[in-house]
Amino acid sequence: MDSSIDIRSSLNAPRRRAELARSAEETADVLVVGLGATGAGAALDAAARGLSVVAADAHDLAFGTSRWSSKLIHGGLRYLAKGEVGIAHESAVERGVLLRHTAPHLVRAHPYVLPLTGDVSRAREAAVMAGYRLGDALRAAARTPRPLLPGPSRLDAARTRRLAPFLSPDGLRGGLLSWDGRLLDDARLVVALARTAAAHGARILTRCRVLELTGRGARARDELTGEEFEIRARVVVNATGVWAGGLDPRVRLRPSRGTHLVLAPGTLPGLTAGLHLPIPGAGNRFALLLPQPDGRAYAGLTDEPVDGPVPDVPEAPEEDVRALLGLLNAVLDVPLPREAVAGAYAGLRPLLAGEGGTADLSRRHAVLGGERGRWGARGDAVVTVVGGKLTTYRRMAQDAVDRAVSAAGLGAGPCRTARLPLVGALPAQGVSGDWGGLPARGASGAGEGPPARLVERYGAEAAAVLPLVRAYPEEVGAGVTAGELLWSALHEGALDEGDLLDRRTRVGLVAADRAAALPAARAMLARAAAGEPPGA
Ligand SMILES: Cc1cc2nc3c(=O)[nH]c(=O)nc-3n(C[C@H](O)[C@H](O)[C@H](O)COP(=O)(O)OP(=O)(O)OC[C@H]3O[C@@H](n4cnc5c(N)ncnc54)[C@H](O)[C@@H]3O)c2cc1C
Repeated sequence: MDSSIDIRSSLNAPRRRAELARSAEETADVLVVGLGATGAGAALDAAARGLSVVAADAHDLAFGTSRWSSKLIHGGLRYLAKGEVGIAHESAVERGVLLRHTAPHLVRAHPYVLPLTGDVSRAREAAVMAGYRLGDALRAAARTPRPLLPGPSRLDAARTRRLAPFLSPDGLRGGLLSWDGRLLDDARLVVALARTAAAHGARILTRCRVLELTGRGARARDELTGEEFEIRARVVVNATGVWAGGLDPRVRLRPSRGTHLVLAPGTLPGLTAGLHLPIPGAGNRFALLLPQPDGRAYAGLTDEPVDGPVPDVPEAPEEDVRALLGLLNAVLDVPLPREAVAGAYAGLRPLLAGEGGTADLSRRHAVLGGERGRWGARGDAVVTVVGGKLTTYRRMAQDAVDRAVSAAGLGAGPCRTARLPLVGALPAQGVSGDWGGLPARGASGAGEGPPARLVERYGAEAAAVLPLVRAYPEEVGAGVTAGELLWSALHEGALDEGDLLDRRTRVGLVAADRAAALPAARAMLARAAAGEPPGA
């Protein structure tokens, strides 16, 4: 494994300062506002077509909804059940792109088990299994090979409890096993997108809030200095998710809150598969329990419409926490007390409001503005892309950039992102016969190469991270070493403790872990500022 890194993909404080200075002098082809999955995807798409790109976020990479997801890269089964064949196929295709070509290091096949408890009737069992088979047909239609994503099967009660030993044996008649995609960390997908965009020449500006779109670009404010400045661009892609209406009044959203619980390592020992938890009386909807690479587990999620101003960081209300705990305890052998919940997080889905209320256009995306013909007359150089989901970020970005290119009459090549590996990508690997949950790959953990845990997180860049981990091996929480924090400050654009603990790593999901890790985060930021040699 090569221990050098493509320095053009490195984001850090000095590069931000240099890019800011250039932004004041030049007119970009495209300004992308918002650096969640959609905006970072759009920045990459446009830069890879040869356009000059500036991309700004008011806070940090993945500050918004993109870090609060369930981390599923799902194949669209849910939409098929609603007869939305087009959107289901689109999801399955995008899942295949991530698994096979662009991010095999970040997106893996993962097994999910639906425990067949007394709450799941035999008729429901048959219906769910029929759905899983349709999902497998979608996989085949999307040309994702079966070794990358195995088909469904029925498990007996003993096998089901081997995958989730804490399930109550009472009335458990078995489980339905299915496979789908999952991200190891949603925020890390966004970081990889932004860095890959940077490697293609995009200027990535975090802590730059766009205050107003001007028709010639935007008026923005450097949130670190308070200084206001202009970003000139031929066309703007507004990818600000639940905040999109603040910059484009054509957008009408009806955000919906989803909450997840965070369970500390060891709370549910032996959990290797994800579990679908039956929601009594909710038809085909299930909550989800998902083991994480750091030993924690997340249980989610709720779906509550939210009115009023959109907060920067949504709160997980106590009633959501109790409701999720109730669903979990309904299937556990020994119920968990409230104190077992180590943390909780909530996110707001940017759902599109329908014509007469909140139609469930939910996971569809929309591209607004920039239509030909209206362009010159309105002087409106704004394309807003909103809705959708993480799984389809690439397609959303492609549609938005296609519209922006035609609106502004830019000379650009075709979209290249379906075959463009993100930084750190390793070749795709099939699921081995003896899978055990979160398979390590690419390194054995023994001998010369980087440990498997680093390969899990950094893919092909693990060898470049290793010297920093060797220099600063102390664990700061959730299995993360101080050396990795230094790596994030030197190469992944982390500017402060929050960037390090809440987005480059997820230590901060548990408040006590975050507090314990703060001194190490500060020390590593100081080292980066003192010029610890990049790539050291
Ligand atoms: C609870 C939950 C679970 C989900 N689970 C899944 C799942 O498992 N799989 C899946 O595929 N999808 C899932 N989704 C959907 C998915 O997370 C979102 O659709 C997606 O992350 C939206 O990304 P985005 O880039 O459009 O928006 P965001 O990630 O919110 O990014 C918008 C960015 O714009 C920035 N911004 C806002 N205003 C300004 C401004 N004026 N100037 C500059 N920057 C600005 C913000 O700081 C933010 O970083 C889930 C959503 C939720 C809420």
